Amino acid sequence: MASIRLENVTKVYKAGVRAVSDFSLTIEDGEFIVFVGPSGCGKSTTLRMIAGLEDITSGNVFIGDKYVNDLEPKDRNIAMVFQSYALYPHMTVYDNMAYSLRCHHAKKEEIEEKVQKAAAILGIQDLLKRTPRELSGGQRQRVALGRTIVREPSAFLFDEPLSNLDAKLRVQMRAEINKLHQDIRTTFVYVTHDQTEAMTMGDRIVVMKDGLIQQVDTPMNLYEHPANVFVATFLGSPQMNILKGEIAIEGKKKVFKSENGDFSTQIPDIDLCQIEESRYPLQAYLGVRPADVRIGDKGYETKVELVERLGEQTLVYFHLPGRKEFVIASLPSGSRLLENDIVKVSFDIEKLHLFSAEDETSLTNAVPYVKLGLDEVDSSLREKVGKRLVDPSEAPHHLVFSASEIREGKGDLSFEAKIEGKKDYGEESNYFARLKDGKVVPFRTPKSYKIGETLTLGVEEGKLNLASEGGERLTDDIVSELEPHEATLEFRPRGCFLSEGSLHNHEKAYQLVRLVKLGKKSIIELKGKEKGESLRYLVPSNDLTYVSMMVYMRKKLKA
Ligand code: ADP
Ligand code: MG
Repeated sequence: MASIRLENVTKVYKAGVRAVSDFSLTIEDGEFIVFVGPSGCGKSTTLRMIAGLEDITSGNVFIGDKYVNDLEPKDRNIAMVFQSYALYPHMTVYDNMAYSLRCHHAKKEEIEEKVQKAAAILGIQDLLKRTPRELSGGQRQRVALGRTIVREPSAFLFDEPLSNLDAKLRVQMRAEINKLHQDIRTTFVYVTHDQTEAMTMGDRIVVMKDGLIQQVDTPMNLYEHPANVFVATFLGSPQMNILKGEIAIEGKKKVFKSENGDFSTQIPDIDLCQIEESRYPLQAYLGVRPADVRIGDKGYETKVELVERLGEQTLVYFHLPGRKEFVIASLPSGSRLLENDIVKVSFDIEKLHLFSAEDETSLTNAVPYVKLGLDEVDSSLREKVGKRLVDPSEAPHHLVFSASEIREGKGDLSFEAKIEGKKDYGEESNYFARLKDGKVVPFRTPKSYKIGETLTLGVEEGKLNLASEGGERLTDDIVSELEPHEATLEFRPRGCFLSEGSLHNHEKAYQLVRLVKLGKKSIIELKGKEKGESLRYLVPSNDLTYVSMMVYMRKKLKA
């Protein structure tokens, strides 16, 4: 058993195809994690880099505490299960399962014990004497799994293992893989393009698009709090309805008005509490799941275009302004609505989703970073944080910190705040607390507070950073640890060369192990390939610089 950690992993194929970009994720020991996304989004490539079947262009992969970038697949102790499973046709099920153990010269008793144990977990004890030809598709898939279980790998990687099976068998195997995970509690990484499979299988889901992670969370949190329009519409069936329009302030209330028409709906106050007043009217997308559409005696009048009775639910299709395609409502099966009926439509306003029309990101989820004006911060604290400034010539504009660093009680930065709203995220809740100056900060806790309660919140100095006007971080801990030397990186066809004034190194080849981009400058940390010595340099920021690339030293020529 082992955890798996990916740090800024990037894959660029020879043809220049950027398959995976800056993928960072920690998979806990024993966790069942699913990568989901449309075909071509980089799921298999990421899985193959974990397995060692694909070179990593840049970034680091760790299995347990071990750095495995340079390790052969066979030395990673990982099992990979593909959609096509090649069993040896002339061997019995038993021999197929025992094969790898025999190759490793395991003792006869040990082989017997492990094969029987795996067969019992998979319920294939009765099949051990058969050959693959005498098995059904589902049984063969189980034998293929059994063959990997006997090896007791520290993690299982699955690449769409069920896509060759028919629909009924797929549902059954899905349950069996879940059960297998419960039984053996090893780390599972499972790739699928099927959102139902993802929702039913993972402890956590990684949603990917165009080689980029879109969001990582539990299935329920992704469903209830999607980070952008892509995640919102990818998960859930039928899809979330998305309407285009703008959010305006009317009196004291916020209202969404759809484009090309007069459909409007009120928005709960707390939903947009972190959006600055100056941004209104705000171009936005409104999202509502079919189950949260109400058809009743109030709302917008429209005509039913189509009714689909699916048994346990009835889908009703109609038009609303702000959306060219049909809007779909999901009603209980008892609905007697017919095509051409005139109905009144409204939305459950507690369940609305709002996204920015500019970049399609959620406007209602808590912003992960809090930004304060420098004049809102005590000057001695500002100076303390300023000691970690990398390039003193860049003028900071804001103090920033991650919302996850806010704690109850006093900190180096403290503020009184009144709780105004709450959203549930599984075992935890996200609270929105208003500061004296009107700004709203989010904080997440498993504890429970009442709306209207006042409390003191704090952040430790080490978690505070300074940022430029554009929001780029300018401070880093690495600065106070050790003063870095100034240098330049030159990219030549033969490799990347580092030049600096004085040559104080002993080695020529270094691996870049950490890269901290701080505005126009970046700090790089290099590790000697031979002796493992550590060096730090301050270099101009450049998009070609990657973690794990090789850097060669050269002495700067005096002009
Ligand atoms: P997924 O598994 O999510 O469908 P892949 O990881 O297989 O996606 O592919 C991601 C992207 O990389 C796609 O654009 C694909 O065409 C490209 N790709 C995959 N393998 C190779 C390869 N060997 N050479 C060049 N491009 C590749
Ligand atoms: Mg694939």
